[in-house]
Amino acid sequence: MALQPLIMHLDGLCHKTDLSSTLPSSDQLISIDLPVGSGPKAKNLNNDVRTIQESLNKISPLNGGPKIPLAVDGLCGSKTNKAIFDFQLKQFGIKGADTLIEPGKQTIQRINQLLFSNLPVDPSVNVEIRAKLVSHLNLVAQAVHAAQANLMQALIPGGGLFGGPANDRVNRHFALGTLNPVKREAAVRNILQVFNKYQECLLLPPELDLGFLGAGAFVADKTGDPRIAFAFANGFFRKGEIEPDRKIPMDRIHLGRRAFFALTDSEFCAFIMLHEMAHFVGFPDKTFILDNGRGWFTDSTITPLSVESRLHNADSYATFATECRTRNSTKPPYVVAATTSR
Ligand SMILES: [Zn+2]
Repeated sequence: MALQPLIMHLDGLCHKTDLSSTLPSSDQLISIDLPVGSGPKAKNLNNDVRTIQESLNKISPLNGGPKIPLAVDGLCGSKTNKAIFDFQLKQFGIKGADTLIEPGKQTIQRINQLLFSNLPVDPSVNVEIRAKLVSHLNLVAQAVHAAQANLMQALIPGGGLFGGPANDRVNRHFALGTLNPVKREAAVRNILQVFNKYQECLLLPPELDLGFLGAGAFVADKTGDPRIAFAFANGFFRKGEIEPDRKIPMDRIHLGRRAFFALTDSEFCAFIMLHEMAHFVGFPDKTFILDNGRGWFTDSTITPLSVESRLHNADSYATFATECRTRNSTKPPYVVAATTSR
């Protein structure tokens, strides 16, 4: 089997690519000479303002970038000031939103972390990432337990007291409504086994030597990889194996540092973690769970998928567990619908 992992890029899609490709170099990092924005400290040199306008335009609105791209004219008017404020508000909250970008300070650092990510990490950033990871893991654990409870409910003969909604949820995400009762029960048991492995992922003892943020199966990537996350298919079963190119453990799920800044919303990050866990644990018969379609069960990228395709589709597990946790079948804003190229 090839050693290529499934790598999630900033567009939220997984690609099978070589780990050694697309590492950015630090000479791409942006800098300004004097402060940009509003207030008495702002000097708004034309070149500095252009740098900020160009950079903010590269950042998705989901991460605080402007919804309508800024004109790159070097003039810091109301639209550019609002874009600076909106970016700071999304990334740092109201306390960090002063509409002023100073050389070397947190806003320009965050822009670089989003666009390039292979910056030297300062300890305060690690503290921030650790706090975010704890909050994301909390949602992941809730989703896993909710999925397990839902599946056990669906296995009770006759559906039990809450069997109706529980069965509806399984059917929506995995299209099990078409199966006969025997096949359906076998499918539900298999899905439950996948989530039991998810639980084992959460319970793996942290190995701090593997990453500065070990927690269960998750480690923060130390190599400055610009991508969001990556996992080896069935990596859970590749205990102690090391990927020879980057010398990283294959029995861990790797989260890029930039994931913590790009996925500003805990719900979004937890969803990505649930997605990666599916690749990582695979199906009970050891076949791979890959990407047959990305999106919510209502998306046209998912609706045509057969039961077998969904049972081997990472987003089907992530969306199911998310609905079990939230009890809400409406598509969340961070779920990306896409066909996948493999
Ligand atoms: Zn994937």
